[in-house]
Amino acid sequence: MLFPRTGMASAGISLMVLAGTSTASAQPVQPGQEPVITVNGQDFATWQEYTSSAAFQDAGLRCGSRLTAPRAEILQSDCSFTITNIKPEYDPIALYQIPVVVHVIENTSGQGQISDALVQSQIDILNEDFRAMPGTNGANGTDTMIEFYLATEDPNGNPTNGITRSVNNTWFNDGGSYWNTLAWDTNRYLNIYTNSASGALGYVPNLPQGGIVGSNSDRVVVLWSSFGLNGPIGPPFDKGRTTTHEVGHYLGLDHTFSGGCAGGNCYTTGDLICDTNDESFPTFGCPGNKVSCGNSDPVDNYMDYSDDLCMEMFTPEQTNRMRCTLESWRTELACSPGSIATRFGGGSNYDTVYSAVNPYIGGNLTATVNVGLTPYNNALLLCYLAPASLDIGLGRTLLVDPSSLRVLQLIAAGPVAQWNLPVPNIPVFCGVTLYTQAYLFGGQPNYGLTNAQDWTFGYAP
Ligand SMILES: [Zn+2]
Repeated sequence: MLFPRTGMASAGISLMVLAGTSTASAQPVQPGQEPVITVNGQDFATWQEYTSSAAFQDAGLRCGSRLTAPRAEILQSDCSFTITNIKPEYDPIALYQIPVVVHVIENTSGQGQISDALVQSQIDILNEDFRAMPGTNGANGTDTMIEFYLATEDPNGNPTNGITRSVNNTWFNDGGSYWNTLAWDTNRYLNIYTNSASGALGYVPNLPQGGIVGSNSDRVVVLWSSFGLNGPIGPPFDKGRTTTHEVGHYLGLDHTFSGGCAGGNCYTTGDLICDTNDESFPTFGCPGNKVSCGNSDPVDNYMDYSDDLCMEMFTPEQTNRMRCTLESWRTELACSPGSIATRFGGGSNYDTVYSAVNPYIGGNLTATVNVGLTPYNNALLLCYLAPASLDIGLGRTLLVDPSSLRVLQLIAAGPVAQWNLPVPNIPVFCGVTLYTQAYLFGGQPNYGLTNAQDWTFGYAP
């Protein structure tokens, strides 16, 4: 029932449930009653009957992900299939925002129907969990500074609510390579599908490190009844944590129980993470004190198999690895659909610094400040990684935080001061927000401050 990290010979997934392993204690499906799910020819009358069955638990169908090593390391990185190098550059500072498309697939009997509101509830849960929002089940976790939103633009640039709907019995049964028809550019969108998920609560075909990125089959699949808040599957799998768990895989994380009590270097064995204790087997339910490898098992981790309400955290090192995965393996994902420029003001400050076009990675940032209407003839452009709002007297407000990292400091002279800056074509700029304000001098009174503009860098639209 445990899936080895490497050496899985089979490509893709195999989700056949062994016949004859189901408990016989549950109520059988009555004549005329439609089963809620049929797995390997076996009907189940209720979701509870299914998820409490040996067929479900022994086959490891809390998550059907099969993580298959690539033939060779395609890309050496700090977060490969075999190693994690924790580095400060992957700490959660810049905010990544990932566009999501949810492909809702139902069958001709109407199974699989999910409302727009239920889809949105799942996005909300992802954000509560990944941002460790106070007052939510995920409050005790690490704020990964990774967010999700339903796409507002489809791959052709048309407006969308980020949800597609299909009725297809084969696809509902997780067959027929539906992704070749439905997938949106997997480099730029997180593609989530809801259907019967081959009897699992959810799965990904592989980690991004396994070489799947950019192919149509790159996806997260979730059992329709377990999607969103209070879905029809009911407790204990109705709080949306199946999707949180699978998106953890999608961002490069393995199960906390991978490799069992692996021992050795925790960055190269097991889940490749050191701040999740080893555990010898997955957790079901929500045990208060489970010890399997000499230390407490990480039963509250999203990457275990625990009940939805039991899961409440990613660790700092899991966060580091997920952000490394975004920057190394899914470089375009958090930068779609391009960069966004937002102005923010400071009340009585002078003319506003602005950029006529949104800057993007590999392009140019053109910043202009008009000083001609003021008694100044020079400007100094201040670019910092954090905003501020500090009244420094004389009607001036400092809108960038000079204690944060200074990215640029440039001087230009003349009634119109302009800077044309190339933005390096490196993924680490993805999602970085730059806070910019100009300092004016060369006139009376002695100096002035402009209003500010912030730029969040993405790839070209
Ligand atoms: Zn899993």
